[in-house]
Amino acid sequence: MSERFFLSSAACAGRAVLEGDEARHLVRVLRGKVGDMVRVFDGSGIEWPARVVTIGRDEVTLELGEPTAVAVATTLPLTLAVALPKGERQKWLIEKLTELGVARLVPLVTLRGVAEATPAAIERLRRGVLEACKQSGRNTLMGIGEPRSIAELLRERPDAARMLVADPGAPLLEAAELQPDATAVIALVGPEGGFAAEELAVLEAAGVVRVGLGPHILRVETAAIALAARLT
Ligand code: SAM
Repeated sequence: MSERFFLSSAACAGRAVLEGDEARHLVRVLRGKVGDMVRVFDGSGIEWPARVVTIGRDEVTLELGEPTAVAVATTLPLTLAVALPKGERQKWLIEKLTELGVARLVPLVTLRGVAEATPAAIERLRRGVLEACKQSGRNTLMGIGEPRSIAELLRERPDAARMLVADPGAPLLEAAELQPDATAVIALVGPEGGFAAEELAVLEAAGVVRVGLGPHILRVETAAIALAARLT
């Protein structure tokens, strides 16, 4: 079986336990059996081959093989602060950003936002990250941050982080926008109705650079993916 499973509890003495949805997926959906080989990852970058040793009602015990190398990021870690779109488009956004290697997604609270990042919505986003990691071979989870307003993001910004805002009509994003001494990038994407003038004024006053993504108006998720494709 070439399936990948997420380990939410720590391995101990070469053994680990799959729990909850992951265990049910292996046993009930994939009809896994004792002796089957699978692959597991813990979200920190490590992956193991594993053999099923026992199958319980809601948990599966695995014997772990040799871990494979920890994935090393080759670009600056990218945080995207995005005014979330609604419904299915949210799911799609999470899948693509995880595949592209974005380090963290922060639901951005804006004046014209249309989707509230409730605790249940955040939980759905986290599940989406897990699914995309399992399917794409990514071994580090994309973080899902707590919802943040522009003021909070500015207050919490680490000193050496480069901050950008995607704004239609601004000069095209070039890699040169990134300061050589930047240690991370935080890029903002507004809601379907766009950022309000006062939000853009606050960002500009804080030195956040406006960047364009081409001549067309992109949906929120397309703009986020275009940024991710250029910056990861
Ligand atoms: N009428 C809105 C405006 O003018 O801002 C359109 C908003 S657009 C649907 C949603 C968000 O995606 C924008 O706030 C911006 O952050 C980003 N975006 C869309 N198209 C873009 C482009 N061509 N360049 C840069 N950012 C873009």
